[in-house]
Amino acid sequence: MSDEKIKESVSKKQEPEPEEEKDKFEKYRKAGKAVKDVRENARKMVQPGTPIIDICERIESELLNKEVGISFPCNVSINNIAAHYTSPSDDKTLINDNDMVKIDFGTHVDGYIADTAFTVSFKPEHEKLIEASEKALEAAIEMIKPGAETRLIGEKIEETIKGYGFRPIKDLSGHLLDQYIIHSSKIIPNISIPHGTKIEEGEVYALETFATTGSGSVTEAPYAYIYSLLPLRIPLRFKGSRQVLGLVQKEFKTLPFAERWLAKKVSKAGLKLAIKELTEKGLFRAYNVLSDRKGSLVSQAEHTLIVLDSGCEVITR
Ligand code: MN
Ligand code: MN
Repeated sequence: MSDEKIKESVSKKQEPEPEEEKDKFEKYRKAGKAVKDVRENARKMVQPGTPIIDICERIESELLNKEVGISFPCNVSINNIAAHYTSPSDDKTLINDNDMVKIDFGTHVDGYIADTAFTVSFKPEHEKLIEASEKALEAAIEMIKPGAETRLIGEKIEETIKGYGFRPIKDLSGHLLDQYIIHSSKIIPNISIPHGTKIEEGEVYALETFATTGSGSVTEAPYAYIYSLLPLRIPLRFKGSRQVLGLVQKEFKTLPFAERWLAKKVSKAGLKLAIKELTEKGLFRAYNVLSDRKGSLVSQAEHTLIVLDSGCEVITR
């Protein structure tokens, strides 16, 4: 199902009134402030020997302490893994001292999302790779204003990353946000593309850049620890599936959630079967772990911004 259709089914409201618009941006800012407040602490949590699951859970619990919702599970993607890794409920993986660690997390207030990411490493020789994605993000943010062309922003990102001697990841992109929709209808690519679209005032984007020592392309692993609900009506065979579906509808709506979160509420065997049925029937979308080739390293930088009349306001820094 297209993200547009999801959007329609989530929000059946008319175009918002100006007062509602203002309120919406205040909610985005509140979500952004919570992310900002946790970002620095999150960076300190990333130390060699730390279990990944501890990082996920500590960041998520700090976000909840800020009285906002969590818009997707905390991602801790290591080395050639570019995105979509969050700890499964039994994760024993520890951070290693030569790891390149991407931390990606987000909040929401009434479905208005703030999404941010940064990269940590403990080796000075990795700094250029981290700088490449950070500088590309900065350069892209500088270009954001109404009328800016996404293909030119992609070109700038590509140019900046290649200037450091690395490749941008072509199949990951910045994305338009909408209420309860993390990947809405427009993208900001990491590479130059022939046709794009134009940035419009009042839009909110999560702009994210990826630099890699690998191929510049990611492949899906045959496993996922993150899912989201697609608003379909399909009969289910197992009672456990109906229970899990009810839980997800109530707590996460169409926002991504972790298997780890459900494992705290549902028996493990039942959960496995429920996720299998719900995914096979197309009610759950699985976010498979995405990686560049073995042995490569990927860095990421991300901020969320509101497009203003002559520029943008970054709400996560
Ligand atoms: Mn993100
Ligand atoms: Mn994002």
